[in-house]
Amino acid sequence: MKSSRLRLNNSLTVSLFLAMSLAANVSAAADSGAEAAAAELQAKAQRVQEVIDDLRGRLSLTRQVTAAIVPQNPLMVSVLAPVERGGAYRVAFEGPFLDSLSDQELRAVVAHELGHVWIFTHHPYLQTEQLANSVALRVVTRDTLERVYGKVWPHGAPAGAPVRFTVPAN
Ligand SMILES: [Zn+2]
Repeated sequence: MKSSRLRLNNSLTVSLFLAMSLAANVSAAADSGAEAAAAELQAKAQRVQEVIDDLRGRLSLTRQVTAAIVPQNPLMVSVLAPVERGGAYRVAFEGPFLDSLSDQELRAVVAHELGHVWIFTHHPYLQTEQLANSVALRVVTRDTLERVYGKVWPHGAPAGAPVRFTVPAN
């Protein structure tokens, strides 16, 4: 009698232990999934940051510019002026838009966004898409810049419209 109760207790302990270790495995898997996703995001941000740093040097921009990948950006990509004086500008990409860009196209988009930073820091009252593009053309080809705009506006930018990265009009 005593020994069978002991056996019962043991088997309960074993199944409890199994249940706990199964739960631990599931949560470890969830953790490693989250870690993998974070690492992937980090790698994507690093890809953008390297292009930013390269082109920032070529455009002689002295202000810090950092890369951010956001779940949603109605403009797909945009540049945010620093909140604090002397802080970093932030180029924020919507993830899927970033994923759609080749390396060359990424350079064209970053060049355009850095064009805005150049204007902010030189002639803030002249902030236009055209001027951002003419700054971008110092470091990337017109072909690539136009191809990127083609992706943003699959049906072509309306004639005379200001050139902007906006949600495509379907
Ligand atoms: Zn722009």
